[in-house]
Amino acid sequence: MYDNHALSVACENSEEVVVVFVFDKNILSRLKDSQDRRLTFIYESLKEMNQLLKQVNSRLIVLFGDPAQEIPSLASRLDVETVYVNEDYEGYALRRDKEVAERLSQKNISFFKFKDQVIFSPQEILKSDGKPYQVFTPYKKTWLLKLKPKHYEEFPVNLKKMIVIKAISSEPELKALKAYGFERSEILIPPGQTAGQKLLKSFLPKLKKYDKDRDIPSKHGTSKISVHLRFGTISIREAVRACRTQRNKGAETWLSELIWREFYFMILAQFPHVETKAFKLQYDKILWPGKVEHFKAWCEGKTGFPIVDAGMRQLNQTGFMHNRLRMIVASFLVKDLLLDWQWGEAYFAEKLLDFDLAANNGGWQWCASTGCDAQPYFRIFNPDSQAAKFDPENEFLKQWVPEAFEKSKKYPSPIVDHKVQRNKAIELFKKYQSQ
Ligand SMILES: Cc1cc2nc3c(=O)[nH]c(=O)nc-3n(C[C@H](O)[C@H](O)[C@H](O)COP(=O)(O)OP(=O)(O)OC[C@H]3O[C@@H](n4cnc5c(N)ncnc54)[C@H](O)[C@@H]3O)c2cc1C
Repeated sequence: MYDNHALSVACENSEEVVVVFVFDKNILSRLKDSQDRRLTFIYESLKEMNQLLKQVNSRLIVLFGDPAQEIPSLASRLDVETVYVNEDYEGYALRRDKEVAERLSQKNISFFKFKDQVIFSPQEILKSDGKPYQVFTPYKKTWLLKLKPKHYEEFPVNLKKMIVIKAISSEPELKALKAYGFERSEILIPPGQTAGQKLLKSFLPKLKKYDKDRDIPSKHGTSKISVHLRFGTISIREAVRACRTQRNKGAETWLSELIWREFYFMILAQFPHVETKAFKLQYDKILWPGKVEHFKAWCEGKTGFPIVDAGMRQLNQTGFMHNRLRMIVASFLVKDLLLDWQWGEAYFAEKLLDFDLAANNGGWQWCASTGCDAQPYFRIFNPDSQAAKFDPENEFLKQWVPEAFEKSKKYPSPIVDHKVQRNKAIELFKKYQSQ
């Protein structure tokens, strides 16, 4: 509702603007858990948005169904001239938006898309030969060279243009969450744009130490804004504006992470095969020798490796996992349990509050060594040394796996031998490396 490109232009160009949200049945029908945390986050954020609109005598229209049907039919009912949306780079969203645009055009209604969730779209940062980058560092260099203050200016939203509530009285409004098939769940990261801005503000004093603290899970040294960036309750421009207020190593490192986010959007858009296949296609042929019961132990946080179990329990219980732990548990699934990275990717997609197809896929392919610019397959994390380095006082481990530190309590023995599995993983990757 604030700093939103499509909404800003809609308000500038129109006499009256109506804000619409569609609970997309195509997406919702694939979610297994009726208490999916993301639905609570979205729902609460919509409630806030509705309140803000009511303050200017308007309200949200909330549809439930297939957007390709719902949007054009609403546009006809309200006799609108133009539909404005923000770009989305996922395969499904691209197909959906194309269909919406076609149906609107049959009704002579214009449809405009705007770049909003990134500073630079996947086509804007290219190599000098016009091809997409496949390596992060030169991509980042070009990204930074191109960055000017105009790229992160706010897109203000003129709420005075919002349609009056009376004009849309027969259109559906926001119902209770259960009307969309879901129940409330507990979320630790407060939803909505006001809470998002507060969260970002509270992170700023920590920014200068981000480069040092970001890898220590017990320190809470990261921003936790990923879910807000995902759902647009913090704009990427605001995040960049915030970090441009400081010139230090911490701010530089944090900006670099925001650039990783755009790098993975670019990879997904330019190499769409990554959604279902390895970036390096030869690794799709791997026959993973791991055991299904090991996957179960990994999901449940019962592998007998405290750092892995701590990460998985944090994910299962809160919907969040610290980045260092995401790397450790992903590496462990692939290189210690010798299981298909796509199983892990799918599990994260189900559980993460901040799930984002591009970042999740990019993160998994990086850890599995199947991605572009990925961790080399022979560099394998040792879970115990990772724990000693990033949780030296066992603070995080004691919080999530207390029984590993109490002799009287039962904690499983390690389900595999790291040294043995490490060698097996190297042999496995070697075999497929040149195929
Ligand atoms: C296996 C794996 C899966 C991941 N899945 C997701 C996912 O589904 N959604 C998601 O947003 N991030 C994902 N990440 C990236 C990263 O772990 C999270 O963005 C980060 O932990 C979120 O916490 P934060 O907001 O405190 O991050 P901060 O450290 O404060 O970073 C600021 C922002 O930069 C972006 N960012 C940071 N690190 C990365 C990264 N490595 N790749 C892409 N963007 C990054 C995020 O938007 C983040 O909010 C994944 C990483 C791995 C290794």
